[in-house]
Amino acid sequence: MVSDRIHTVTPSYTINISMKVSEMKQQGKNLIDLSIGEPDFNIPEISKKEAIKALNHNKTKYDKVQGLLELRKAIVKKLKNENNLSYKVENIVVSNGAKQAISNTLMALLNPGDEVLVPKPYWVSYPEMIKLVGSIPVFVDTSRTGYKITSELLKSYVTPRTKILFLTNPSNPSGLVYSYEQLMEIGSFCVENNIYILSDEIYERICFNEIFTSMASISNAIKDKTITINGFSKSFAMTGLRIGYSISNTEIAKAISTVQGHFTSHPSTISQWAAAASLNECSNAPDIMKKEYKKRRDTAVSILNTIPQLKYLYPEGAFYIFMDISAYKKNMKYQGSFSSAFCNNLLNKALIAAVPGIAFGMDDFIRISYACSEKVLSEGLNRMSAYIRSLIE
Ligand code: PMP
Ligand code: GLU
Repeated sequence: MVSDRIHTVTPSYTINISMKVSEMKQQGKNLIDLSIGEPDFNIPEISKKEAIKALNHNKTKYDKVQGLLELRKAIVKKLKNENNLSYKVENIVVSNGAKQAISNTLMALLNPGDEVLVPKPYWVSYPEMIKLVGSIPVFVDTSRTGYKITSELLKSYVTPRTKILFLTNPSNPSGLVYSYEQLMEIGSFCVENNIYILSDEIYERICFNEIFTSMASISNAIKDKTITINGFSKSFAMTGLRIGYSISNTEIAKAISTVQGHFTSHPSTISQWAAAASLNECSNAPDIMKKEYKKRRDTAVSILNTIPQLKYLYPEGAFYIFMDISAYKKNMKYQGSFSSAFCNNLLNKALIAAVPGIAFGMDDFIRISYACSEKVLSEGLNRMSAYIRSLIE
């Protein structure tokens, strides 16, 4: 009945887990949810007021496919001030979340059979989005290069059909951040090999040590090849308002806008007014949240350091910790995916929700999110510690 295309894709693990969590909570289970990557903060008051004002003033009609001019102007200003990037409003398309900004871009650039480089661990939706447009995800194994890509590593994956490289910086799920030098090397490689870079920078404001570099800001040649993806879900905790955007050269932006014009027209005007207010009137809101995330990161790491045999990638940004649980394989009976079995046990025996690494292409890992209060986080990790101890003792 359904299309062949649908048979090639797996439903989103993160969304499914979060639905399971709500179900268990409704049944009265005292569950700690460290699964979904959703800020526990509320949207800035000023953005809320602007959304209400938009409704009261009947700013509720169809508007430009590319997004409200006022919002795109605010994004142009943000790019100049925060990223040292010079763009015009024509380069920006505002979409229904970063998810739609990415899928529009893939629709606009890819032909069936084109190959897209997807470094592992990858964010859960990338491979499925690529398959949905009939193209081929080519997974890049980063386990020997510190879970980051390098130009040398990419060489062995490039073919004449390679069209796009996905780069997530800071990374979900690894929490790693690329330096200016690392980005310059990767960007130059892509220019030399005529590969577009889809640079997902949705966590740019959650970067703890490294000063964040936007890929497109490195050189004009790299800028021309880069489609930057960003949004308001993480920086301004506006997940439900669904505003994301793409920034690209004029030709690509036009193509993205054509795709969006047919599929969805544009995202909610009310949400777009709220987003414009966030950038224009409270651009420091993300820094307040970042401070909190850093405290939580430190709390989490101090607990993880006490868990026997547990390894993890030291989180430099975003709000995730990617843990290597392979040491416990010998202590558990399982069939199929090890990380799924481990997470099922965590959920059912210790009442903690985490995401199995297989969702990100790495079955020896699990991901926790620390976008929750320190109290919840500590309790969750202490429960995890007790569960692991019970497993190995
Ligand atoms: N990219 C990454 C790396 C993400 O973690 C997410 C998750 N929210 C998205 C894109 C999609 O975000 P949005 O809510 O704006 O669709
Ligand atoms: N990006 C978040 C995560 O990775 C939200 C879930 C999703 O959009 O799939 O958990």
